[in-house]
Amino acid sequence: CGIVGYVGAENAVEIIVDSLKKLEYRGYDSAGVTILNSDLETYKTVGKISELEKIIPVDFTGHIGIGHTRWATHGKPDTKNAHPHLSSNIAVVHNGIIENYMHLKEKLLTQGYEFLSETDTEVIAHLLHRTMKEDAKLSLLDAVRHIMTEMEGSYAVAVLCTDEPEHIVLARKDSPLVIGLGDHGYYAASDVTAFLRYTRNAVYVNDKELVLISPAGVKFYNNDGQQIEKQIDTIEWNE
Ligand code: GLU
Repeated sequence: CGIVGYVGAENAVEIIVDSLKKLEYRGYDSAGVTILNSDLETYKTVGKISELEKIIPVDFTGHIGIGHTRWATHGKPDTKNAHPHLSSNIAVVHNGIIENYMHLKEKLLTQGYEFLSETDTEVIAHLLHRTMKEDAKLSLLDAVRHIMTEMEGSYAVAVLCTDEPEHIVLARKDSPLVIGLGDHGYYAASDVTAFLRYTRNAVYVNDKELVLISPAGVKFYNNDGQQIEKQIDTIEWNE
């Protein structure tokens, strides 16, 4: 029920796990993290974030990654239904519900996609993979924009793809999403409390907007793919 992302100079694993703990109040039946080194490396488990910490090897580090704490809506709470969900070189975390996932799943099954979970979320990963395969020139950002026209329901999503290892792409509709601008990196989360320890500079993402966060900075886009300027808020209150 909460997503997080981090890109920057610090160890992404530590920041993601710490941020997920701050989001546990939103739901905690399972949790997971994916880091993009040269490949996507994923750890996920049923249970609290403390369970996730137990299975993460000490030498698991990186500088770009996404994480999730789940409150199951589709598919029981177990490890295979925990996020991130993958489609070969793509990893996705999702907060919300894809209402038309059955219809999308049936189509993807006829196109040869194999589903490893019972979640609605897994269709997002395969839809992205299919969209990028159909048009090799399409960027990850445009692929996310494209599948937003196919998905009904609510979502805040964070996506990693090994073809574009320098950034995380995010988008939202009817689920919260906020971006943090820090001195040592950039943060994304369902709730600003996830990264308040690291920065108080936050940008609230509106419905149908997209975000690209990389070590070089953060870019915001509208649903037409045009880059937009956003207001930076300073969070004054304490947790
Ligand atoms: N609908 C997704 C699932 O059941 C996401 C739930 C959530 O927001 O945690 O896996």
